[in-house]
Amino acid sequence: MSKFKNALKISNITSKTLNFLNFEATSFPGKIVQKYYPSFLKDCNNYIDHPRFAITGTNGKTTTSTVLTEILTKGGMQIINNKLGANMPNGIVTAISKSLYSRWQKTGGIEGAGVVLECDEAYFSRISNKFVFDYIIVTNLFRDQLDRYGEMDIAREKIIKGIELNPDIKIVLNADDPALCEIAQKLNYNRDKFIYFGITSVDYTGNYERNSKSPSESLHCPACNEQILYSKRYYAQLGDWFCRCGFKRQTPDVTARVIVQTDKNILDVRYKDKSYIFQTNLTGLYNAYNVLGAITGALISGVEPNSIESALNEYSPVFGRHQKVKLNNGGSLTIHLIKNPVGASEVLRGLKNLKNARMVVSVNDNYADGRDVSWLWDADFEALKDFQNVIYTTGTRSYDIALRLKHAGFNPSLLEVFDNTPKVSLSLENAILELNENENLVLLVTYTGLLEVNKNLPKLIKKYGA
Ligand SMILES: [Zn+2]
Repeated sequence: MSKFKNALKISNITSKTLNFLNFEATSFPGKIVQKYYPSFLKDCNNYIDHPRFAITGTNGKTTTSTVLTEILTKGGMQIINNKLGANMPNGIVTAISKSLYSRWQKTGGIEGAGVVLECDEAYFSRISNKFVFDYIIVTNLFRDQLDRYGEMDIAREKIIKGIELNPDIKIVLNADDPALCEIAQKLNYNRDKFIYFGITSVDYTGNYERNSKSPSESLHCPACNEQILYSKRYYAQLGDWFCRCGFKRQTPDVTARVIVQTDKNILDVRYKDKSYIFQTNLTGLYNAYNVLGAITGALISGVEPNSIESALNEYSPVFGRHQKVKLNNGGSLTIHLIKNPVGASEVLRGLKNLKNARMVVSVNDNYADGRDVSWLWDADFEALKDFQNVIYTTGTRSYDIALRLKHAGFNPSLLEVFDNTPKVSLSLENAILELNENENLVLLVTYTGLLEVNKNLPKLIKKYGA
């Protein structure tokens, strides 16, 4: 016990030191903790309560896990969440040890909190081989940056391996993603080990773009290898799918009819013969999936629908997932992380009819962004071809993204390339300074640029926030 508490102290001292030196403290304290106490994560099983959720998949992990955390907290539970998106083992140990330390300081004890942990799909098995989860939610599997993990098959195999290490885990899957059906097929568990969520219909109101231009994988049936067919297809490979051999989408346990509006989503959710209407200011169909995944996690944990409703009303998006800041010119800054073709295309789809805004598109090619930026050519930047205002490009690949926009048909005279700007936040500041009264700014940014912007956001808000 005392060694465990010492590990918490070490985490706290390391974080404080890093913060004092103005370094990121989202992963390194976890590394130090595990050096000092290699079985830390395993021994967390003795101190962490329930529910214990792991959230994985290509896109939507951060939004799903932060929304679920908000709902469970509203439902009266104490929840530890790695909300800054550090989702590899060191980041997870950092989040847990910091939270347990502050619980200990506040309450005198460390027990009593459950977890919602976002896990990188390639590292999930390295967490589940030590820590025992009650549930895993898998959001989707899209083609990510090929130079990091290889094909989605590899990600799927790693998720399956991680699930097998926790034999009592329940598996929550997006029924609309045929790329996930192989997880269920390969595990060959009873149907009652799985909980499926899915969308039954989508309507659009307002000027939200109805047609998705996300790149679509053509997937093959795991039973007979014929091409998967659809009676409804929403975006990428998500929809109501089937195969001629009879293999098809599982009937979801939790369903939603979704109305996508310009500024919100309305979900008419059905679970166990009851239906509930929920509203969220997270826009776009991709976010309807994220919210539905979180609602599913909450319903199976026994949270009351009114807690879900009020948590969704109060939720404010975090860390580049539609994160919004009011500016002192009367407009606002909205930040969207872009990291792969499907995710970027769905974000761009939501910006297609955007008026009264300028845009900054920042692409870096550091390791965590993916070295290969060829995915930009698979993302639907054509959605911006009729955009009538200035687009600034920045980041280490500012010229690549400018070229991509030009090729997409965007007016080159409205392009401004920030050359040799080491920091995205400096380009962002320059763009803010050029805004007219009430004009908005939208930032699309890859991962390392987002980290840098977030670090400097408090300063920017101090200077330009409303
Ligand atoms: Zn088939």
